Amino acid sequence: MMQYFEWNLPADGTLWTRLKEDAKHLSEIGITAVWIPPATKGQNDQDVGYGVYDVYDLGEFDQKGTVRTKYGTKQQLKEAIDELHKNGIQVYLDVVMNHKAAADYTEKFKAVEVDPQHREKAVSDPYEIEGWTGFNFPGRGDNYSPFKWHWYHFSGVDYNQANKKKAIYMIEGDNKAWSNGVDSENDNYDYLMFADIDFNHPDVIKEMNQWGVWVTKELNLDGMRLDAIKHINNEFIKGFLGEVRAAKGKEPFYAVGEYWKSDIGSLDAYLAEQDYNVDLFDVSLHYNMYQACQDGRAFDMRKFLDDTLLSKHPEVAVTFVDNHDSQHGSSLESQIKDWFKPLGYGIILLNEKGYPCVFFGDYYGMGGKESPHRTIIDILLDVRKKYAYGEQVTYADHPDTVGFVRKGDKDHPGSGLALLASVGTDGYKDMDVGTERKGQVWHEVTGDIKDEVTIGDDGKARFTVRGGKLAVWVQKDADIKS
Ligand code: CA
Repeated sequence: MMQYFEWNLPADGTLWTRLKEDAKHLSEIGITAVWIPPATKGQNDQDVGYGVYDVYDLGEFDQKGTVRTKYGTKQQLKEAIDELHKNGIQVYLDVVMNHKAAADYTEKFKAVEVDPQHREKAVSDPYEIEGWTGFNFPGRGDNYSPFKWHWYHFSGVDYNQANKKKAIYMIEGDNKAWSNGVDSENDNYDYLMFADIDFNHPDVIKEMNQWGVWVTKELNLDGMRLDAIKHINNEFIKGFLGEVRAAKGKEPFYAVGEYWKSDIGSLDAYLAEQDYNVDLFDVSLHYNMYQACQDGRAFDMRKFLDDTLLSKHPEVAVTFVDNHDSQHGSSLESQIKDWFKPLGYGIILLNEKGYPCVFFGDYYGMGGKESPHRTIIDILLDVRKKYAYGEQVTYADHPDTVGFVRKGDKDHPGSGLALLASVGTDGYKDMDVGTERKGQVWHEVTGDIKDEVTIGDDGKARFTVRGGKLAVWVQKDADIKS
């Protein structure tokens, strides 16, 4: 999978066109799915997509001062998706359902201010506030849906227009409360930002389920990336995916959730609540990479996979190095240092397990600056296609240097590889690639090591890696068809 955007793309409305023109190339390098940014109308034409104004406006109506979104028009998006499908690439839309932004007008209703660290604790009496909760979509009208949003469709806001005071306001009214089935940080993490959608309200549930089916059909989607799900009632997510999948009929529909927590216990509990019907990004693995790239040699690589989704629930783990939220200057900044990126990508792209996601920023660059990692990612994608097959044997036996062997399989003659990653000094590992490979000459393909090795009669060879580097060894002159 490739995440086809980064936070600081120019807001020039050209991403959908660029994606269309890139479809063939993406297919050639081995990308089989793209995660595209939120295509829904945001607060303005600069909005990255997470400040959602109207989910039914995919760059079609003159609203918030623009027809197109940051990425282009609905027509351009549809053309990009068609082109991706023609090239055998699936499309996953980033779906932002937690909140709505940039309301059309204010409304008056009762609310209490709550303690930001203890959201169940009121720090004021209930009183009338004026919040931005009225959405009537003058540019779209009743097209696709006549639903209009009012204060009672939300559970909280962060601004009182009447006195211009910022706070977290919990809306008061019949059946009003923060949602169940959300992360327990701050006692209840239902509220994240903007006007928080109330997924206990039956009309809201119905409307958003209908929208999910509509957008899936309208864009011919193959899947979704669900934003901020730790802030959304898990029962709603379960029902929503059920409805969308039912509408798809026999066709499979992919879903990965963004549950941004590094502790495996939280991810594990959420997966169980969803009956393992949704994948999750392996945030735990990302933070292990972050720790390793900070600590270097002081990091114990034997523990690299400890408490990760990749080790615990690999069948539902989407592995990644960085994304638009972890990159420099973003809300959850934890960008992986440049020296570690090849190690991170080597481990996720050549692994037997996990569903790896390549970040646009790491491939094409961020903020208009070219990425230094494109070459290594191209090499690794090529190795993935040609050699990364068969059983994996992991050598997590040294604090500096770890490695794994892929044994290759019958369907891919000549396939198989030996990977090493070092966070310390130059290292080596005697690894077993199979006695059937005795006498073969193997070489290192990242270009870091010029030596070759010959596989011994026992199927083993001494594979080397330089300090702080990745090394990937494959059979030289293997007659590989890709
Ligand atoms: Ca929420």
